[in-house]
Amino acid sequence: MQITTCSDAFGRTSLSSGFGKPLPIRKAPFVLMPATASLIATYCGVCIDTQARVIDVFGEPIMGLYAAGEMTGGVHGAAYMSGTALGKAYAFGRIAAQTIASGK
Ligand SMILES: Cc1cc2nc3c(=O)[nH]c(=O)nc-3n(C[C@H](O)[C@H](O)[C@H](O)COP(=O)(O)OP(=O)(O)OC[C@H]3O[C@@H](n4cnc5c(N)ncnc54)[C@H](O)[C@@H]3O)c2cc1C
Repeated sequence: MQITTCSDAFGRTSLSSGFGKPLPIRKAPFVLMPATASLIATYCGVCIDTQARVIDVFGEPIMGLYAAGEMTGGVHGAAYMSGTALGKAYAFGRIAAQTIASGK
């Protein structure tokens, strides 16, 4: 079967950056699959240091406050790479626990 792509009503030939090609549906039966949006990762959040201590606006650690995972910012850089979101949660969660256990 030959697959022919097309453009949508807005003239788009992909969903984003060449990915997700629109395909015409011409022959019944037509089937619709409900979909929903989900937030996978954020690029923003509180600033932490290498010991997972939350840093205030003056660059100083806030006593007794630690963070890891999605609520921390600055890990992804310019673009999200699959695995880095879970990676930062695991890595900095462990580091936070080590920092707390060390009494820093
Ligand atoms: C659909 C989807 C696909 C993803 N795919 C990938 C992937 O392929 N690779 C990747 O690296 N990352 C992926 N991610 C991102 C990754 O799942 C998250 O970055 C990661 O789970 C964040 O971990 P976290 O511990 O910061 O937050 P969460 O995993 O959200 O954990 C927060 C926890 O806190 C609990 N909680 C909230 N409020 C309270 C409260 N008041 N009291 C007590 N507990 C509370 C919540 O119930 C939850 O268990 C995906 C995310 C989604 C949604």
